[in-house]
Amino acid sequence: MVVRALNWAFLGVLCALSALAVQALAAAAASDSLPVATDVRLGGDEAQTRFVMDFSRKIDMRAFTLADPYRVVIDIPQVVFQLPPKAGESGRGLIKAYRFGLVMQGGSRLVFDLAKPAKVAKAFIVDSSEGAPARLVLELAPTDRESFLRQIAIDNRTARTDLPAASAPAKEGDQRPLVVLDPGHGGIDTGTKGPSGEEEKDIVLSFAQRLRERLEKSGKYRVLLTRSDDTFVALADRVRVARDAGATLFVSIHADSLPHGEGDAQGASIYTLSDTATDSEAARLAEKENRADVIAGVDLKSEPDDVVGILIDLAERETKSLSIQFAHKLAGEMKAVTRMHKKPLKSAGFRVLRAPDVPSVLVELGYVSNRQDLQSLLSEPWRNRTADSMAQTIETFLSSQTAGVAHTGAN
Ligand SMILES: [Zn+2]
Repeated sequence: MVVRALNWAFLGVLCALSALAVQALAAAAASDSLPVATDVRLGGDEAQTRFVMDFSRKIDMRAFTLADPYRVVIDIPQVVFQLPPKAGESGRGLIKAYRFGLVMQGGSRLVFDLAKPAKVAKAFIVDSSEGAPARLVLELAPTDRESFLRQIAIDNRTARTDLPAASAPAKEGDQRPLVVLDPGHGGIDTGTKGPSGEEEKDIVLSFAQRLRERLEKSGKYRVLLTRSDDTFVALADRVRVARDAGATLFVSIHADSLPHGEGDAQGASIYTLSDTATDSEAARLAEKENRADVIAGVDLKSEPDDVVGILIDLAERETKSLSIQFAHKLAGEMKAVTRMHKKPLKSAGFRVLRAPDVPSVLVELGYVSNRQDLQSLLSEPWRNRTADSMAQTIETFLSSQTAGVAHTGAN
């Protein structure tokens, strides 16, 4: 009980801080048209690496470092990225690769994966002049792990804005069961990619929106999406939204892929939470999906992971058993309308499934690396019938639960 109370107090503080930050940034973004990032260059070697990004006008920036894995993060106001298609996929010198994109309304971010510990030797903005664009310049120099960690400690003394928690609507007396749909990834985190650049974050968002329509049509449920646009939401925030809003069921939606040359796999799978993965493929997938926060430059140390861990141990057995029950029903229903993976029911340590009091499953709709699956994922009729089938399962599951509660009450 004490643990739970502390946890809620901590989350409350985090949410309040985040809400303020979001308001401020949204106001700033609404003012006029957004700056545009127009080009990017990498230079130098492992002794000194230089990164330059051109902008249509001068912007503000804030750079900081994160460890395990070693990253440099630069926060800037929301900008439009109009960069060469492969930008960031490969690096140079101390930079292994980098990503860029929206992390919240009003805020964009650059995240650099480092080849080894490095220090920010210089980070500044040059105003545009005489036809030259405004430029963001980052210069990195090698350092050792100890100095790298010391620098993080110094940076942390100045307050940093946390990523915002998506806000959940108040209940307002509406007692209908709440289904939380969780389209994976978003913003700077694209998720996995298809051969022609199809991005998981887009595929799963449009599927979740379709499923929401289907569920809302019956009028029996409230439906909440952890994100309804192309922004990033940290994994812990997805769980937090479901718990704060008192969700009855949490369904995370993803699409998988196998790396090129690692064979072919196809079909939908449904995952539940477990400490040990059912097989190596499930373990690989959980590791990949859990990387979302690393990709977006979230400081994992600031997430209340240890507290959540204790809560998982306290989790009622009922939540686990309901999650597994729902996963079985879903697999049974979905196989009538779509191709399933040869072993469609698996479990592993997905961070997003860790609510101890909300039955939660993660659905991998199919493999974007498989041609037939990708065709399905992008097809309107497939989306419709698969969303129908999932909505049907959710309805059956929730009505049996409500009936169960009534029954227990009668005893
Ligand atoms: Zn995913």
